[in-house]
Amino acid sequence: MSEDPIDLRSDTVTRPSDAMREAARDAPVGDDVYREDPTVNDLESRVADLLGFEAALYVPSGTMGNQIAARVHTERGQEAIVERESHVYKWELGGFAQHAQLQVRPVDGDDRGVVSPAQVHEAYVEADGHRPGTGLVCLENTHNSKGGTAIAATDVDAVADAAHDLGVPVHLDGARLANAAVALDVPLHRLTHGVDSTMMCLSKGLGAPVGSMLAGSEAFVEDARRVRKLFGGGMRQAGMIAAPGLLALENVERLGEDHENAAVLAAGLDDVPGVRPFDPETNIVLAATDDPAEAFLAECAEVGVLGVPFDDHLVRFVTHWDVSRANVETALDRLAGR
Ligand SMILES: *Cc1c(COP(=O)(O)O)cnc(C)c1O
Repeated sequence: MSEDPIDLRSDTVTRPSDAMREAARDAPVGDDVYREDPTVNDLESRVADLLGFEAALYVPSGTMGNQIAARVHTERGQEAIVERESHVYKWELGGFAQHAQLQVRPVDGDDRGVVSPAQVHEAYVEADGHRPGTGLVCLENTHNSKGGTAIAATDVDAVADAAHDLGVPVHLDGARLANAAVALDVPLHRLTHGVDSTMMCLSKGLGAPVGSMLAGSEAFVEDARRVRKLFGGGMRQAGMIAAPGLLALENVERLGEDHENAAVLAAGLDDVPGVRPFDPETNIVLAATDDPAEAFLAECAEVGVLGVPFDDHLVRFVTHWDVSRANVETALDRLAGR
């Protein structure tokens, strides 16, 4: 393998900047379980404003944020409507069943992962003597498995309105919501306008070493704080890790560069034999491969380009702040020569 692999496996592989490391060292801290960490408090109030909610909660991971939301919004034994390819359904160890005792009812979104209002109406079950009742609709933006699609605010609003008409709350898994906001050129809060809670990761394209945010009403976040403790996510001098998170908030606009790099990567991959990229909407490039994905990726790794398998003949490459335009061009040169 070449000396210096270009790591396109995920936008989670970024290393914190020197400024983030300094901010961590110098952060004013206190015991956050007593709500005495000024850095965490600052981060929570800034993210609440950014996302257009009354309050926000700092959580160790996106997964925990989604799981807390499911637990807070629902009662044991209800159903959650989820998109079939969504992260909460595919990649969180069946957590809705384990942590909230929900039965999930997957629905097939369109090829961009958009769930329609009609699908929510069809999937909805009313509680009666036999049926558990629908307790939650969960959306995802950008939609990871569909290739980082940036779902329009109007599409989010429409499905959320349908859920609310049925009396069902809506949680938005916005792990990469900032990518969606930049791609759609709207403020973050426009994309959360119709939903009851949102999770957003600071540790993906925004470059923080750790941490995600869960936002909602004051009452929701009060309950979420109790559930975070229950799930073992109550943290003490968390300002040490929240301080880089505050700096990560300054990286929202920069995501546009990742999106341009993804477009360059996809255009270049189009010229590589045996691989057919899909047009990226944000920083995720999915590509169909003639060879099995694992074999194709092994060849890529051999020449110093890393990606992940997404299906038998589907691979994913993700651009991020540790990958420059020059790195993307180098990656394409290496793949062309493989
Ligand atoms: C990464 C991701 C998560 C989970 O975040 P972690 O911090 O890795 O737990 C949730 N949803 C989506 C769409 C993701 O891409």
